[in-house]
Amino acid sequence: MLIVMKADAAQEDINRVCDLVRDMGLTPHAMPGPSRLAIGITGNTEPIDPDRLSILPGVIEVIRVTRPYKLTSRDMKPDNTVLTIAGVELGGRDIVVIAGPCAVESREQMVETAQRLKELGAHMLRGGAFKPRTSPYAFQGLGRKGLEILAEARAATGLPIVTEALSTDEIDLVAEVADVIQIGARNMQNYALLKRAGQCGKPVLLKRGMAATFEEFLLAAEYIMSEGNHKVILCERGIRTFSDYSRFTLDLSVVPELKRISHLPVVVDPSHAAGRRDIVIPLARAAIAAGADGLMVEAHPDPNQALSDGPQTLSLEMFDELMEELRMIVPAVKRNSLPTL
Ligand code: PEP
Ligand code: MN
Repeated sequence: MLIVMKADAAQEDINRVCDLVRDMGLTPHAMPGPSRLAIGITGNTEPIDPDRLSILPGVIEVIRVTRPYKLTSRDMKPDNTVLTIAGVELGGRDIVVIAGPCAVESREQMVETAQRLKELGAHMLRGGAFKPRTSPYAFQGLGRKGLEILAEARAATGLPIVTEALSTDEIDLVAEVADVIQIGARNMQNYALLKRAGQCGKPVLLKRGMAATFEEFLLAAEYIMSEGNHKVILCERGIRTFSDYSRFTLDLSVVPELKRISHLPVVVDPSHAAGRRDIVIPLARAAIAAGADGLMVEAHPDPNQALSDGPQTLSLEMFDELMEELRMIVPAVKRNSLPTL
């Protein structure tokens, strides 16, 4: 249910609506819009009687929201969510490029890579300190030490940090350093983790599970938002199909559909989808053409020596080429052009 308030509704009218919603045992979510405020209601298991709410002063309309996802949906919030992350706007007209190695490997690697990526035009820095690896024998990340290195890389470059939390125990530690907490594909349905991420208040980049449907993906985002954290970024990173020439299949058709149904920013990760660096740039081009608000790509000064995901990781020369191509595509899709360097 969505309660639309009049443009001139007084604060006491808003409070009265929220109090009644709470009295009904439900949760109100105030959602300011460009011209008027709306109050979303979650928590009901059966239909709510709209008449109890529509008669309150300041209420203009009560709309039933029938989709299973509520807070993530444009039914509740028609205008795009634009997040400002350490000065970088995501979800508006700018295209945001998040780049960096799969994992933080060492201080030298991370700080130097961050500096080069910044020079080449990256807007945010990625790098895992805690890594979800398919094999327990593979490099698991530097943990706490990796977070310290990420903090140094941010201090050296000013680039905001995107890094993953694998478990509820780690969220607070990761949140101390991260500007954006990543929840990986393998954890998309870890509901305890989603709830903790929802309570921590930091922006969350939620990767689509490799076998997750559209509805499951948005309901995972709904878990984070229902805890009061509306700063969610959706990331398509490839799904598992019968196609066997790439690691996963990049589901680009989900991009316009996510943008149609949801107000949240959408980022595409072509690196994990491809699993091979030679097709990352064309996929990245296509993602922007399909309407993504940004990209997340793996880049490393010496990808063949990378401790994780080397085969899909761009060299810095390839990253430079990607940025050059984006400078042509971004204005063609009527987004703000990236600064020329
Ligand atoms: C990553 O970003 O390095 C990663 C592990 O991604 P995903 O969860 O999409 O596999
Ligand atoms: Mn990776």
